Formats: sequence, C-alpha cells, structure tokens
Amino acid sequence: MENFDITNLTAHEILEKKLDTALVCKKLKEHISQVDNKVKAYISFEDTQKNGLPIAIKDNICVKGELTTCASKILQGFRPPYNATVIEKLAKANIIPFGKVNMDEFAFGSSCENSCYFPTHNPWDLERVPGGSSGGSAAAVASGLAIWALGSDTGGSIRQPASFCGVVGLKPTYGRVSRFGLIAFASSLDQIGPITKDVADAALLLNVISGYDPNDSTSANIAVEDFTKSLVNNVEGIRIGIPKEYFLPGIDTEVKKNIFEAIELLRKKGAIIKDINLPHTEYAVEIYYIIATAEASSNLGRFDGVRFGKQAEGKSMIEMVANTRGLGFGNEVKRRIFLGTFVLSHGYYDAYYKNALKARTLVKNDFDKAFDEVDCIITPTSPTPAFRIGEKLNDPLSMYLSDICTINVNLAGIPAMSLPCGFTKQGLPIGLQIMAKAFNEEVIFKTAYSYEQSTTWHKQKPKIE
Ligand code: GLN
Repeated sequence: MENFDITNLTAHEILEKKLDTALVCKKLKEHISQVDNKVKAYISFEDTQKNGLPIAIKDNICVKGELTTCASKILQGFRPPYNATVIEKLAKANIIPFGKVNMDEFAFGSSCENSCYFPTHNPWDLERVPGGSSGGSAAAVASGLAIWALGSDTGGSIRQPASFCGVVGLKPTYGRVSRFGLIAFASSLDQIGPITKDVADAALLLNVISGYDPNDSTSANIAVEDFTKSLVNNVEGIRIGIPKEYFLPGIDTEVKKNIFEAIELLRKKGAIIKDINLPHTEYAVEIYYIIATAEASSNLGRFDGVRFGKQAEGKSMIEMVANTRGLGFGNEVKRRIFLGTFVLSHGYYDAYYKNALKARTLVKNDFDKAFDEVDCIITPTSPTPAFRIGEKLNDPLSMYLSDICTINVNLAGIPAMSLPCGFTKQGLPIGLQIMAKAFNEEVIFKTAYSYEQSTTWHKQKPKIE
C-alpha cells in the first residue's frame, strides 16, 4: 500500500484502493519539495494539518482564512472571511484544499505569465508556458504535484492549459457550478471546473461541485445527474459534428492531424461523423474581448484599497485609490480596464458593447442550430501546442488569438472538455475539445471516456529534469 507512485495517482484510484490520505498528502509534499522549484505551480500553502483527499485550488477561489490573491499585488495578504460554495461542497465530500496554484492576474491571460509572482513552467518543456489562466492548476496536475485541481474558465482558461499540459479540463455549462466565492472576472462567462488526470476524475469532481446555490443568482436549479454513470465505453450512434470553421489554415498541421485521427477512431467505434457549420465563429475574439473587458472593468471597480488587500499612500482619498490601483494592478489588468471602460462609455456603448451582445446571440444561435443535428462537436482546443515563455508577451493580439477555439463556448454558455489526443514530434501535448448542448455534460463524458479507453495519451507523464 505504501508503494504507490504519486505522479500517476488519480482520485478514483485513491478511493478505490482506500489509500491513506494522510500518506498521500505526505508523498505529495515530498514530490512538491523536489519538483515545484522547476514547475512553479504553487503560490501558497497553509501549514495546517487537515485530513482528506487533497486538491489544488486556483488562487481566485476563496478559501476561508487562507491567502487568496488572484496572483495580483492588489490582493496581497487577503484572506477571505468565507469559503466559496465549491470549497464548502468539497469539504462535505472530505476533499481538502491543498495549496493555491498560480494563474494569470485576475485570470486575464493565456500563458500564466501575467502572474504578479512568477510564470509557471510547462512540465513537458520547462521553456514553454503551461497555458492560462489556470496554468498553475494544469501544470500541477500534469507533473503529479496535485492529484487534481479546480480552475476557472471565462474564455478557455481551464481547457487551453489542460490541452498545453496533456491533462483533462472541463468547463461546465454556465450555471451548473456556483460562482459564489469565485473572484469575478466576467460574470456572464465565468465557470469553475475540474482539471484532472483522467475523464473519470473529472466526472467525480463535477458531481461534487455542481448544483443550485441560492448565493449565486445565475446558478441553475436543475437536478444534478451522477456523471460517473456516463463513464461508459460506447459511442455507437452518437452524432459528432465537425465545424469547418475550426480547421482553417491558422491551425497547426500536427494539431489538425491528431484531431482528425481522433475523429477517425471515434468513427470506427460507431460514432456518426457529420460536417457542420458555425458561421459566426470568426467573430469570437472580437465579441469576447468587448464583453469580457466590459464586465471586468465593472467587477474590478471594487478593488479600491479600502475593502480588500493592500492600500497605497495618498494625500486625498482619490489619490490613495489611484495610487493603490496604479501600483496594485499589472499591465494586462490595466489594459483590460481601459478597454472595458472605453467600450461602455457614452458614445461607444452602442457601437461596441451593444453590438457585441447582439453578435453573442448569433453565436449562440449557431450552436442551437448545430445541436439540432448533432449530439456533440469536436474541434482542437487550441490552434497550436504550448508556445515559448516570452514569445507572445509583447503582442497582446496574438495572445488573444490563441483563445480562438475556446471562447465561443463561453459566449454560448455551453459545456466543453479538453482531453489529451496525442503529442507533437517535439513531445508537446495536443488537446481535443468536445462541446455539447447546455446541461448535457453526459454526452461529453461518454464520448471522452470512450476515446480515452482506446488510447494511452493520458497515461504518459512528463520527465522533469
Ligand atoms: N485567455 C482568455 C483571456 O485572457 C481567457 C481567460 C479565462 O478564461 N479566464 O481572457
């Protein structure tokens, strides 16, 4: 029993084998002390003795009394007086927060480089980014520094890092998981979700964190299925749509090749493959960066140096607030607040914000139409594998474009999963994205589990030297 390998261990194995969770935590700590100086996934640990199944938590999810900083200077030293609903639900299932993991500041980014602490490294190639914004969560799971993790996804922040790090990441349907205690980025898009080593763990974790919460007015009062019931190896008759708009020349050829091989495998297993259209896909990035920044500029208004975190000096109140925000926010956060304030301002509101809302409806209609014909949709998760640290840092637009395959899912409020579907010749993981209709995570689990059962990608682990 003592002889398990912590790097491969999943939560369902811990439960099935009834492993001693105190021993799991001990082994995890040892592994962290040996490897995390290279990966740099963790931001903070609390040295309390708690018993239960450990889980890594993204630093924008409130854990009572424990540092929760969104990887921002403005929240340095902030310890929330309450738990996020997901943390309460985990506690009831005897799952305990085991360290906070790195992220892009306030979840703005796709590379984990916008953290006020340090960038996290991709365990498959330490010179590359783990993706973002939940880069710490994905890198920790991929390198065995965490059994599993929670991330948040506003435009791809669970799925893109999962794809870059070769793990499973699920953005649930909007409203499936309570956002209470998730520090808000864009409230109409944010969802908390699992990042795990395999599909079964994602189902287990979604079971625990889902459900109606009176503290979140957007949480859906819909009964939660037992998602583990969908872990069946059978795709017979499942209709899978392939949207041509996601396979344009900007997509890396190795990514494309692996996705098509995965589709072929599913076809051989009995799925029905159909070409479909999602004609408004090309507007995704524009629509998202108007709506998300507008909501962010409003949500971030609460960080004024009075209510939370650090306060700067100032001769007047206005000067104090300006100094606090000037010193506390990083450059990407400032860029987004400017952009969001601009698109909401008098004279521009109609041209930008209002039009973006209309276009968002068109994107949603595309999916509604597609799901009349198919049960799920398969695309790449990201147009490229993990890029190099620093490569896109001075080119925000190219960074924004890396979200092109994931953003529309948030605009439409539907669920989607990224799961490993191969490696490039250089050994970088490639992610396959499966989308489904709102509140239809079951078909995602079924398809993903069936695919996973026929492949071994998820069993491969990075060697960190
Ligand atoms: N990368 C996207 C952004 O920068 C998405 C981030 C997220 O999902 N939180 O906004």
